[in-house]
Amino acid sequence: MTKCKSCGKCCSTFMQLIGKEKPSDEMCQLIEWRNVEVKEIDGLWFTIDHNAVCKHLIKKGNKFLCAIYDDRPQLCRDYPNGWSKSLLNEGCVYKEDE
Ligand code: SF4
Ligand code: SF4
Repeated sequence: MTKCKSCGKCCSTFMQLIGKEKPSDEMCQLIEWRNVEVKEIDGLWFTIDHNAVCKHLIKKGNKFLCAIYDDRPQLCRDYPNGWSKSLLNEGCVYKEDE
């Protein structure tokens, strides 16, 4: 398996499941005016905020690291295991893995 390149994208992106139905055009517009993407992935609709930086993300040199790495939540520990590849961040090394 490829090694994480510490790009920090997974700690800067917040996805929320909307459901199976596409939101109304008006709702999509309101969401997108907040610079949040509305996207269908595998038949489900999500909002994706690419600028939702976790307060524990720190930059060291050209790498992004978790300031509470030993105490990080289980969701963070599990990523990307158990995640559908189509849900992983664009540019994440695990998205391209076999
Ligand atoms: S707690 Fe750490 S691993 Fe989890 S999102 Fe924040 S910076 Fe990333
Ligand atoms: S998006 Fe992928 S490559 Fe980038 S820090 Fe997260 S797990 Fe590592």
